[in-house]
Amino acid sequence: MKAFTVRLNLHGDLDFFVRSGARGRRIERSLDEKTSVKDVIEACGVPHPEIDLILVNGQPVDFDYAIASDADIELYPVGTRSTIFKEKRLQISTDRAFVVDGHLGKLTRNLRLLGFDVAYDPNAEDRQLLCTMKRENRALLTRDRRLLMHAVVRTGYSPRSQNADEQTVEVIRRFDLLGFISPFTRCLRCNAPLQEIAKADIIEKLEPLTKIYYEQFRRCTGCGQIYWAGSHFTKLQRRVEEVRKHLSTR
Ligand SMILES: [Zn+2]
Repeated sequence: MKAFTVRLNLHGDLDFFVRSGARGRRIERSLDEKTSVKDVIEACGVPHPEIDLILVNGQPVDFDYAIASDADIELYPVGTRSTIFKEKRLQISTDRAFVVDGHLGKLTRNLRLLGFDVAYDPNAEDRQLLCTMKRENRALLTRDRRLLMHAVVRTGYSPRSQNADEQTVEVIRRFDLLGFISPFTRCLRCNAPLQEIAKADIIEKLEPLTKIYYEQFRRCTGCGQIYWAGSHFTKLQRRVEEVRKHLSTR
């Protein structure tokens, strides 16, 4: 087969995934055999769950589309404000349950604090993560690009930041979660729902200052952990308010 050239143009923040040294929005590749557009994209370092729209020579295609001659490929991430080909988007954004890889413990804690359903096992191997993802219909959150490229991954996201608060904001944006934030409804330790409990029922378990300053308490229906609104939550809530503000002004 005669060699041909594909030119990729990365929109939004997709250049995040391009290997250092080749960083840039435009990539040119020479191919000599028919290749699926998914393989072309992932060979450049961009995991398929990050791609919401692919245009080949101006026309929307899905991941299986085979490239066999010169082509211009435009790649758009989820959340691009552009409304072109709205019905041809490749990612569904209704996922609100997650499975998170073992390196993202702080992100897990933040998301649970905001009420989101997050499966997390710090010792889980890749195979187990993918299994939980499929079985429980969860979106995968990981900074491991190879894992995100796995063929069974339908919905997933790689946080760009290494900072847990920033990652939290990213996930809220990526999955359009602003309207679903429900702080203090889920256990940070075991992910089970919390229920309100009368102070009188737990008063002997509280530290003296907690006894004085707090009136509202919740208890985990899974592990029994008791919660009240402390300073960490106030800080995080402020951060979420900032994002809310930021999003509304964009
Ligand atoms: Zn619990």
